[in-house]
Amino acid sequence: MLTVILKSGKDASPKRFHPWIFSGAIKKIKDEEGREQKPKEGDLVRVQSNKDEFLGIGHYQNGSIMVRIITFLDIEIDKNFWVNKIQEAYDLRMLLNLTNNEETNIYRLIHAEGDGLPGLILDYYAGTVVIQSHSIGMHFAKDDIVAAIKTVYGDKLKAIFDKSEGTLPKNGPVETEDHYIFQAEEGDMIGLEHGCKFKIDWERGQKTGFFIDQRDNRNLLASYSKGKKVLNTFCYTGGFSIAALQQGATHVDSVDASARAIDLTDENVALNDFTDKHGSFAIDTFKYFDQNDCSDYDIVVLDPPAFAKHQNVKHNAVKGYKRLNATALAAMKPGSLLFTFSCSQVVDSKLFYNTVMAACIQTGRKVRVLHQLTQPADHPINIYHAESHYLKGLVLQVI
Ligand code: SAH
Repeated sequence: MLTVILKSGKDASPKRFHPWIFSGAIKKIKDEEGREQKPKEGDLVRVQSNKDEFLGIGHYQNGSIMVRIITFLDIEIDKNFWVNKIQEAYDLRMLLNLTNNEETNIYRLIHAEGDGLPGLILDYYAGTVVIQSHSIGMHFAKDDIVAAIKTVYGDKLKAIFDKSEGTLPKNGPVETEDHYIFQAEEGDMIGLEHGCKFKIDWERGQKTGFFIDQRDNRNLLASYSKGKKVLNTFCYTGGFSIAALQQGATHVDSVDASARAIDLTDENVALNDFTDKHGSFAIDTFKYFDQNDCSDYDIVVLDPPAFAKHQNVKHNAVKGYKRLNATALAAMKPGSLLFTFSCSQVVDSKLFYNTVMAACIQTGRKVRVLHQLTQPADHPINIYHAESHYLKGLVLQVI
């Protein structure tokens, strides 16, 4: 294994268990004889300080993040390592009452940095585990990861689906197609979240098929929904819509720019028997607000896709969030609630809060904050890695 030596002073971040080593922090990379070498992408490398202190072991990759540390201990990365990591993650989900729950069988098993495994997402859907690797190192480790998942779940496991075709670096050394790695039986594509049924299309859907990260927030929305009329924009598979209907919303309108998303929403609405209380619209959210009188909704949900995936487009993203929130706030009636979200990693909670406040100022509405929301506990946040806190939400009441 090659050793990455950091520049003087660049060891503070990994010593605080931040798992990313940026290219600018690296002094040199050497082999056991001290000769300078270049690792292959996906290789495991040891990371050491300028004073030769051991800092961690991680996956090497070209780009601005050059090493993603997967352990801060000087241990073998063998089959046991992967079983221990996945068992540890499973134990947390057991503590969260997700592994044996009659109402919910959809959860995130590995949340990348939040579970100490940068580059790896594992989502569990009613017996099927969907793997999404975001780094080449994780892709190469897949055989061990698959074996570890099988060890941890045993007979309960129905299938493992690899959905990494769209998430590995483009023009990198690996190409893969989405496929089943293991299939003991056909996976049940109907999952449960708080008793609501959802068809999960991990084969063709966005991300791994479902936005698991909104589970707690959907439940909060549901608790406000009895007797209410709800508008759910950016609905994707209709998660917020079904949650609201299940807790007694009188009517829900779901909006998404994608016709396929609207089909999925309609399918889920039918699966839960709410078709007569639901309207669906394949249209851009701004156009929907423009073309409809939205002053009779009691609750409005805005859950757009990440407007900014990189720092350099942060400014445009902020403008987008401001415009979106101002559009909704201007249309809403006094007493109504706005559930508004951002999943852009580069827009932190303070910036999101201030952006929503700017939208309130722009519309001249009197508004108060009822809840400040985030991601659920099966999407844990590594406290030293602020980037893993990506989901922000506010519940506002327009007075
Ligand atoms: N709220 C969803 C997840 C939203 S994902 C859930 O709980 O599962 C974001 C969705 O926004 C995608 O389905 C995408 O098709 C949709 N979208 C993107 N731009 C849009 C726009 N301008 N208007 C409406 N929908 C849009």
